[in-house]
Amino acid sequence: MTRLYNFCAGPAALPVPVLAQAQADLLNWQNKGLSVMEMSHRSPEFVGIAKKAEQDLRDLMVIPDNYSVLFMQGGASSQFTMIPMNLLRGKKTADYINTGQWSKKAIAEAKRFCTVNVAASTEGNHFTSAPSQEELNLNPEAAYVHYTPNETIGGVQFDYIPETNGVPLVADYSSAILSEEIDVSRFAMIYAGAQKNIGPAGLCIVIIRDDLLGDVVEGTPTMFDYKVMADNDSMYNTPPSYGWYLAGLVFAWLKEQGGVKAIAEVNQRKAKKLYSFIDTNPFYANPVAINNRSSMNVPFTLVNSDLDKAFLAASEKAGLLNLAGHRSVGGMRASIYNAVEEKAVDALIAFMDEFAKENG
Ligand code: PMP
Repeated sequence: MTRLYNFCAGPAALPVPVLAQAQADLLNWQNKGLSVMEMSHRSPEFVGIAKKAEQDLRDLMVIPDNYSVLFMQGGASSQFTMIPMNLLRGKKTADYINTGQWSKKAIAEAKRFCTVNVAASTEGNHFTSAPSQEELNLNPEAAYVHYTPNETIGGVQFDYIPETNGVPLVADYSSAILSEEIDVSRFAMIYAGAQKNIGPAGLCIVIIRDDLLGDVVEGTPTMFDYKVMADNDSMYNTPPSYGWYLAGLVFAWLKEQGGVKAIAEVNQRKAKKLYSFIDTNPFYANPVAINNRSSMNVPFTLVNSDLDKAFLAASEKAGLLNLAGHRSVGGMRASIYNAVEEKAVDALIAFMDEFAKENG
């Protein structure tokens, strides 16, 4: 059985060398006679794995020393709740920028804890753009500003980091972390579910500035308190240890590729060729404003949507997996994360071209 090209939005493709390493390690990690899955998280072996993974992530993202890196559970969705619990810090309102389905979910959770000021929303244009800095109606009294730099479903990416004039900026980087270089010091907190550019589902990375730890909303469960997690090196309880180990393999792999700068160049090339193909072939369309087109998630429609089912069936037959758009929007979507090689994008374009010729 050969491996096929996988364009899933998440859980997404992992680098083959990482899977091969995990396979080689599975029964007997480094000749210790057991699998990483079976190790105590307090053992020196696992603590070593955990520390190396964190250090590699710090190196890759150039995370300043005054930030903690937490390896959490509960997916990015749990962060929607933990963020107000941890970051309101006595304030009563928070700013949210609404650019799609994931922003909306974050807003809904925050509303359980505070007044949400929607500083800008692109719902009016069906989430096909991101607002400009000038369009942000920010409240200087807000506890924090939350936004989604890359909306996975709509394929909408910010082309700038919002300036918030000292109000802590929080970013849901689930679908774009490690895809391009970012200046971490511009953010109070970055979080990302692992199952796209980091590793398997079940792990969520939180990067948070240390002065924001502590002072949680009354009644916050212990497990949801970032300070407890930071004070215990994310091992207050049993962490998702196997996912953490796999994330470590992905970080090491990314370093071998030349780091974030090098992979960002490949990502730009991949995205550019796919969007140019879509733009020049009248059979296909992408509705997103050019400057806000995601380099990770490329949604597209067939101009004749009657052919959607046939397209999906034929693409699967051609070895191109998971091209259906999110169930809430339909159409197609190709997620082209770090581990999706350029040749997969080339194969997709060749298939789309052929399908258009046969059905146009
Ligand atoms: N935010 C974004 C931007 C996402 O893409 C996703 C998942 N696709 C989530 C949040 C939710 O992540 P999880 O399923 O890990 O809770």
